[in-house]
Formats: sequence, C-alpha cells, structure tokens
Amino acid sequence: MTSTGRQCGDCTLCCKVMAIEQLAKPANAWCPHCKPGRGCQTYANRPAECRSFGCVWLVNDRLEEHWKPSRSKLVLTTSEDGLEVRCDPGFPDAWRKQPFRSEMHQWAVSGGPLDMTIVVIVGQRMTLLTPDREFDLGIVGPDERIVREFEGTKVVNATVVKASDLGSICDLRG
Ligand code: SF4
Ligand code: SF4
Repeated sequence: MTSTGRQCGDCTLCCKVMAIEQLAKPANAWCPHCKPGRGCQTYANRPAECRSFGCVWLVNDRLEEHWKPSRSKLVLTTSEDGLEVRCDPGFPDAWRKQPFRSEMHQWAVSGGPLDMTIVVIVGQRMTLLTPDREFDLGIVGPDERIVREFEGTKVVNATVVKASDLGSICDLRG
C-alpha cells in the first residue's frame, strides 16, 4: 500500500501502456506476465522498473478517484518538466472526455506560469496541451524531442526534432 492508502486493485493499465525495458516490452502491448484486471503473474520476481513504478493516481491523492486508470483509461506520470498522460489505445478518445479534458486544461492554465508541460500520448501520437490550444505533434519516436517556440510566456508553436540534432530539449523564446 502507498502513503495515499490507494491500491492498484483491479487496475493493470500500466502493464499495457508503459514500455518495460528490462522485459523488452514495448509500450501499448500487454506484458505477457499480466492478467488484465487481475494483476502480475510474476509479482515476486517482477523487474525493478515495475517495483519502483507508481502512477500519479496511486501516489498522489490530489488526483481524485475518477482518475483511477482502470476507470479513466489514462495513466499519468511525471516527466522532467511536467506531466505525461498515456491513454489506453483501446480508448483513444478517453482523454477528451469530461471531466478529464477540462481538468487537464485547468492544469495547463495553472501550470503555464511554472512552465509545466502536459503531453497526451495515444500510441506513438503525442499532443501538447497549452492554456491556449492543442499542438498535434503526430508520431514522436523515442529518439525525438519536442521543441516549443514562445512569444513571452505563450507557446506559439511546437515541433518535433531528432534528439541528435539538439543535444537536449530546447525551447525557443521570442
Ligand atoms: S496504472 Fe497505476 S493504479 Fe493502475 S496498476 Fe499501474 S500503478 Fe496501479
Ligand atoms: S512484470 Fe508484472 S508488473 Fe511488470 S509489466 Fe509485467 S505484469 Fe506488469
């Protein structure tokens, strides 16, 4: 059990949407050890990546009950500079449903001044949410990075470039 008192229970969605390097399991495919809705069949021997993983709903009770991934079809994780929202590809529009879409908009508004990014991931397709609009970034590979272009604090453009062309994630500020 976590400090929130929450338990995964009937949820196994991270075992589908997350990539597990130690198992060479790609994102968006069920782990062969998972019984969906039941749990991990190799729990005692699961890899370190799985042992250390907890989605935001599990570890942070500021995220209300309706965000439970088995209900919302959305797995939230923190990134270097914000939040990643992985949508079950079997329910690709789940992130557009209410109240999720409105709550994410509120986070984009309140997180904007803190320069917090919110990226929705459906399969390999990514969408950057900003207070003013959505940027459909298309298919973003693991070797690619998002570059945001600013006017003041407002994001006015977002593009995807090869990480090797950048060295690191880069923001262009006007
Ligand atoms: S997505 Fe979260 S709640 Fe669901 S099984 Fe994974 S860690 Fe548990
Ligand atoms: S090893 Fe277990 S916990 Fe890890 S992804 Fe597979 S089913 Fe889930």
